[in-house]
Amino acid sequence: MSENSARICAVITEETIDAARAAIKQAASVADLIEVRLDYLTDFDFTDLNVLRDLLKDSSLPAIITCRAVSEGGRQEVDDDVRLRLLAAATRFADYCDVEAAHYEQLLRFSPDSSRLIVSCHDFSGTPADLDAIYDRITFLPAAVHKIVTRANNVADSLAIFKLLERARAEQRPLIALAMGEAGLITRVLGPAFGSFLTYGTLGRGKESAPGQPSCDELVNIYRVHRISRATSITGILGSPVAHSASPAMHNRAFAELDLDFVYLPFEFADLAAFFRRFVRPETREIDFHLSGLSVTIPHKRDVIPLLDELDETARGTGAVNTVVVTDGRLIGYNTDVRGAMEPLEKVTPLAGESCAVIGAGGAGRAVIHGLLERGARVQVFTRNADKASELTDSFGVNVSTIESLESSNAQIVINTTPIGMRGHSEGSSAVPRASLRGRRVAYDLVYNPLETRFLADAREEGCITISGLEMLVAQAALQFELWTNSKPPIDLMRGAALEKVASC
Ligand code: NAP
Repeated sequence: MSENSARICAVITEETIDAARAAIKQAASVADLIEVRLDYLTDFDFTDLNVLRDLLKDSSLPAIITCRAVSEGGRQEVDDDVRLRLLAAATRFADYCDVEAAHYEQLLRFSPDSSRLIVSCHDFSGTPADLDAIYDRITFLPAAVHKIVTRANNVADSLAIFKLLERARAEQRPLIALAMGEAGLITRVLGPAFGSFLTYGTLGRGKESAPGQPSCDELVNIYRVHRISRATSITGILGSPVAHSASPAMHNRAFAELDLDFVYLPFEFADLAAFFRRFVRPETREIDFHLSGLSVTIPHKRDVIPLLDELDETARGTGAVNTVVVTDGRLIGYNTDVRGAMEPLEKVTPLAGESCAVIGAGGAGRAVIHGLLERGARVQVFTRNADKASELTDSFGVNVSTIESLESSNAQIVINTTPIGMRGHSEGSSAVPRASLRGRRVAYDLVYNPLETRFLADAREEGCITISGLEMLVAQAALQFELWTNSKPPIDLMRGAALEKVASC
């Protein structure tokens, strides 16, 4: 499978031997090796070595045998002597056997072949400050490979993992190091490029052996782990939360289509200044990677500005940045939300001289107001919070009224920029009563999940042209893609990736 030396290890976490056999066959097309988790098998005889030999017979990939103690994430209680005797014996025919450092002494009683051992250490609660001490302790134990797995409670925890991998590489020691949890995903994707012996992937949803494990398919086809090297351009989304963002799917699909040496990652982080200091600013960052750009989302779009070196005109005009480009060590802020919001609208209607109603005036609403005014539209804003009226009037010179007064407005284009109707928030509700949409020409909802919100369904029934927020999502991402890569974005493909992601949420 490999284009470079990166190895993807499919975890086999089936409960029956027959299902494990099928999964092992399936792994051959998406992975470079397998890890068979014996502690998941409920019909396995832990005292019969022949059953294990038979199970491995059909594997075309190198195999790691693991029978984890419950104290380190094992699925079922197996007597330590029984499982360690089995693992020691398996070192005579399996490629590798993974055993916890805490049980190493006990394992020695059964005379394992240490040249086939992976000695591992797990922390399921966090990433300890003394990772070097753990590394010193476990690398003292003879083995083919050592393994340290922690939990990332935020993306900064992954820095300790990368430092450890740098150290192991300098010492030429094979090491598997990664951080579990959603915030640890970057260690799973970039780990092999930093020298990790392998990275783990599942064979499907619900088959994870550890939190935050992506599927082999995602590692191969979305993140293209086999393609990533230390020269790969890193991009990603910075915000909180970002775990369900459609942006990684859109950008990575587009990078793959154009065969660009780029990858896009989720960076979930609440402390913006610390993130910029530790990951972004070339003079202070603690990770040696080639960062090319960032998408910036809630809640950082305004606060990011003082951390940048330069702003483009739209970012300056809106006072918000959703895109950072890193070029020659300088950080430049852009706002692609404005054009991203306007392009789908301009495809269905001229804007100059048109009367437009904007409901809500938060971050996205301000981008819409800016874009409409720039294009010569007449803008009325409708908010629930009259206190914000003077601020908006000062910034944009627009009229602000209550949402209830929308019904009496003559606007032909109505744009919802509130989150009302969003899945997991207020799905099925609309920011305005259906009667307020009667007689309008165009209704545009910035909410993109679900694709057809109650607001859009009402508008469609009232005969309006409707536009889903997915169109803005794709358009603003396509503009970001162009800024980072100087290449023409494959928009239809990006839309397809966004649609798949939205449908899966
Ligand atoms: P935001 O900054 O929090 O602004 C939300 C706005 O909606 C505020 O004006 C808020 O009013 C108003 N609002 C919230 N709940 C309301 C309610 N129950 N009734 C009336 N008004 C309400 O959020 P944002 O970043 O602008 O995002 C807004 C929506 O746009 C989200 O659903 C987001 O997913 C979507 N969006 C889509 C795209 C895309 O690409 N399609 C891009 C950006 C945003 P107050 O000021 O009174 O709180």
